[in-house]
Amino acid sequence: MLQSDDLPRSAETVIIGGGVIGASCAWWLEQAGQSVTVFERRHDLGTYSTPNALGTIRTQYGSPTLVSLAQESLAFYRTIGDHLDVDVDELGWANQGYLYLVSNPDHIERLHESLAMYTALGVTSSSVVEQPELAERFPFVGDAVAAIFHGDGSWVDPTRITRAWADAATNTRLCTETEVVGLEAGGSGWTVTTNRGSIESERVVVCGGARAPGFLAQFGVESPVKITPRYRVFIPFDDEHHQRAPLIINIANGSYWRPVPGGVWLSTADVDEASVEPGEGVEVPKGFLERCLDQIEPVSPALAAHARSLPAAAFTYAGGYQSYPIDDEPIIGEVPGYDGLFVNYGHWAGVMLSPASGRLLADVVTGRINDQDNPCSLRRFDADVERLSTNKFGGWG
Ligand SMILES: Cc1cc2nc3c(=O)[nH]c(=O)nc-3n(C[C@H](O)[C@H](O)[C@H](O)COP(=O)(O)OP(=O)(O)OC[C@H]3O[C@@H](n4cnc5c(N)ncnc54)[C@H](O)[C@@H]3O)c2cc1C
Repeated sequence: MLQSDDLPRSAETVIIGGGVIGASCAWWLEQAGQSVTVFERRHDLGTYSTPNALGTIRTQYGSPTLVSLAQESLAFYRTIGDHLDVDVDELGWANQGYLYLVSNPDHIERLHESLAMYTALGVTSSSVVEQPELAERFPFVGDAVAAIFHGDGSWVDPTRITRAWADAATNTRLCTETEVVGLEAGGSGWTVTTNRGSIESERVVVCGGARAPGFLAQFGVESPVKITPRYRVFIPFDDEHHQRAPLIINIANGSYWRPVPGGVWLSTADVDEASVEPGEGVEVPKGFLERCLDQIEPVSPALAAHARSLPAAAFTYAGGYQSYPIDDEPIIGEVPGYDGLFVNYGHWAGVMLSPASGRLLADVVTGRINDQDNPCSLRRFDADVERLSTNKFGGWG
């Protein structure tokens, strides 16, 4: 992207928000021949929720739409050098799998039922692993009795992939410290009002992450999206077994960790958490580390013991927002009733889905896909929608 100090007088397409989703949309729209300008309210791209993610990627879901978007995204990541002129290894990429663990023998049957559901949806790289094979392959998993191993499980550095999208969008203009405060339809497009003045644009794409629902409310768009703060903690731990591990998930309570150079990132997903109003950032609550360690201990006792032996100064914390639409599927496409207004938001796994969600948005904008046929359209909320996954273990279904 080309950093622009001056506000342009007009644009063909304005993207509001420069997180991983806005950056991906910019590249895909540029590929589709559009002239794009990104407005980001903060000092730089990828500085709100995106850089605080764990960047994990999987294709195992309970919903056909998510399976399809994730499979497309994984295929893109695996061949990313053919598209973005970047080497996948420069992106902190690793394909070490996911391991969804249970410690309660009564839950083994549920693992098999979940696997049957995933297989029926076309997920090909998952299998159930039971003892004693589990301990042989993953000697650090404590009292766990069985797991689903998901071979597609991978991860990427969230900041580097955002940068890669932006670097590849060579003709896109970027205006930072530029907050869009109003939009008005008129003439052949939109008047976009920012804190630095107004410009005319033929179309506008709202990619504002957790702030998008509040922004869209001015158009009467009600977003059935829960906004939750999510945190991670870095634990220095150079143990060889843990560095080579898959993403480890205790599905009884939603705690999980993955290796990063020099240690691990540990987190936990509380599916019952209340929705919040997004602020400038999130403060990691007191006791977060202890809660995570208590939750992960049954399936990673060595990690928990090691962390408890470290001084408080050893840990680094981060936090951001995740957006959960009521059916867990992102919201991508037209805003019905408003010509030239589009959205791409509602992501709780936007790093993972950035390839396919940017492509889908560009296809709707260019008319290659009719929004009526788009599974991620806002139109789906005109009817009752439900969360399709039947595996509600800790929100990992
Ligand atoms: C701890 C944690 C762990 C996570 N783990 C994963 C994971 O493993 N895998 C995964 O895929 N995802 C994960 N996520 C989720 C992921 O971070 C988000 O889904 C993703 O970053 C969403 O990207 P985005 O571009 O929509 O939002 P953001 O990164 O929030 O970007 C939106 C941008 O829009 C800007 N903006 C908003 N309103 C305006 C306005 N009016 N004018 C101008 N600019 C505006 C904001 O400043 C911001 O920069 C995790 C998140 C957290 C916090």
